Amino acid sequence: MKRVIGYYMLLLVLSAACSQTEVNQKNEKETNVSLIQNHSFSNIDEVHTTHLHLDLNVDFQNKRLKGVARHHLNNPGFQEVKFDIKSLKINKVTLGTETKESITNHEIKGEIDPILGQALHVKIEPDTKYVNIYYETTEDSDALDWLDSSLTSSKNKPFLYTQGQAILTRTWIPIQDAPSNRITYSADLTVPNDLMAVMSATNPQNKNKQGKYHFEMQQPIPCYLIALAVGDLVYGKLSENTGVYCEPELLASSMYEFVDLPDMMNAAEKLYGRYAWEQYDLLILPYSFPFGGMENPRLTFANPTLLAGDRSLVSVIAHELAHSWSGNLVTNKTWNDFWLNEGFTVYFENRIMEEIIGKKGADNLALVEFFELEEEMERIASSTHPEDGHLFLDLNKRNPDDGMTDVAYVKGAFFLKTIESVVGRGKMDNFLEDYFNHFKFTSVSTEDFIRYLNKELLEKYNFSFNYDEWIYGKGIPENCLRIKSNSFQHMEEMAYRFAKGENIFLIHNESKNKEKAFKRTQYSVQEWLTFIRNLPEDLTFAQMALLDDELSFTTWTNAEIQFEWFLKAISTNYETAYPALKSFLEKVGRRKFILPLYAKMYKYDHSKKNAVDWFLLFKSNYHAVSSNSIEQALEL
Ligand SMILES: [Zn+2]
Repeated sequence: MKRVIGYYMLLLVLSAACSQTEVNQKNEKETNVSLIQNHSFSNIDEVHTTHLHLDLNVDFQNKRLKGVARHHLNNPGFQEVKFDIKSLKINKVTLGTETKESITNHEIKGEIDPILGQALHVKIEPDTKYVNIYYETTEDSDALDWLDSSLTSSKNKPFLYTQGQAILTRTWIPIQDAPSNRITYSADLTVPNDLMAVMSATNPQNKNKQGKYHFEMQQPIPCYLIALAVGDLVYGKLSENTGVYCEPELLASSMYEFVDLPDMMNAAEKLYGRYAWEQYDLLILPYSFPFGGMENPRLTFANPTLLAGDRSLVSVIAHELAHSWSGNLVTNKTWNDFWLNEGFTVYFENRIMEEIIGKKGADNLALVEFFELEEEMERIASSTHPEDGHLFLDLNKRNPDDGMTDVAYVKGAFFLKTIESVVGRGKMDNFLEDYFNHFKFTSVSTEDFIRYLNKELLEKYNFSFNYDEWIYGKGIPENCLRIKSNSFQHMEEMAYRFAKGENIFLIHNESKNKEKAFKRTQYSVQEWLTFIRNLPEDLTFAQMALLDDELSFTTWTNAEIQFEWFLKAISTNYETAYPALKSFLEKVGRRKFILPLYAKMYKYDHSKKNAVDWFLLFKSNYHAVSSNSIEQALEL
């Protein structure tokens, strides 16, 4: 996934974690290894699903999925199987195959844990192989985002998508919802006949007149990667095995923006071996999607804010593609090992970008992330959970989303970059390719990784490396690889000079001995982000207006630039940008952007009221993942 904002999440989940303690204590009786390590009530160590078949009706009128989840079990002789459920209505449970089903007893045990939900206990026989759970979703099924047509590009057809990571799949499928539980799945869906359904599976490329679709995912995946979207979709092919699904209005701009996708695929395969999932498509979702991208296998879900018109934000796609190896092929065993998913992916993403835009551009991308990490580390160090600075986390009794900070992503990536700088790129690449191959289609713990690192790289070639300090220590170790960028230094200086009142918009041309005008296009998006970030929080209105006159930040329709500029507009109370900020908040639901914007507005007296008013006005435009976080930030 790319990317969750760390600091704000930290703040928010603290309160949730406290209120949850009581319930957890009541459930203590049920505490087992699975609950502690996997955030799951299931008994996967005894009985587990090997294949899931979903037969569902997608009912837009009632905003409900209804049907049956058929679990094919590996049962060595147990008499009970436990599933995770949250906000689901269970209608009945049967045993046996479709032609020979018999009702069995089921019981929903324990109070509702606000994070984990509840355990569904099903009585089975020692030889039971099939359990069928008839169920429907409810309006509290947080994985589902049902969008009215007004929130889509077409404005005339509704849209539905799911977001399963980390533990939301249990809100739309009764399932053993642990990342170490790998299953294959198939599905038969009925949807309105003017819409198309797509999943993280084999997908149609055309609409079906009856609205009936069949899906197969034949490679075993962790449950959080089961994904569904239904909308007015068309398909555009980019190469033999890559393409884009989107609403018809977005097809041309999507095909332009993501034209490098086949090259990214070639670069990725050249680095770490063959792509294992046959097809790789993107699905451009409506603006409410809470993340930049989500690596659902065969079908990355992508945020339309990536459609910048200049291909400047496509590293998110390199990130999601990289997950086809790190995360989807080799998966974190528990959410405490989340850095194995994301740190490897950010490292790999940067290597793909290096192939596409060259070393300097890739270094600048990494450096922007490193600055974010340094800020995040400071906040984590002074928070009530300073141990969140570790790569290996302890999320027992906490929401696994707490672990989705820059630590997993960027500290994880710099850990690998630093190893690379010690052992050399050749050995590093061989090691990583072997790692992905050795552990493919399995889940890996931090301890598994350390053993493999020692055996196949460090001891093998006689290198020493302080991996304990990196993985179990709080800060950024001394030996961390430092990236230098002259252009970023130049942007920092320019921000400093501007803040001091210097006219930075005229550049002295030595040869012609005269001044020339300054152009925005001289610098990249990442360079401008660095410039804006390095401006002080208390620029005057006149200074903000001057920047806007010269560089048109308020009207620059690049979401990353808008985000940084709006943060500055809030702290300086630059009211000229407020209408644009309001439109941005109305349209965009990506949590990385809107949560910090709302939180910052809430911090200042001059914008506090707007924060609450606008959120209440636009709340229905956001996925629960975003709106739940913002509600806590605004103390609602
Ligand atoms: Zn990711």
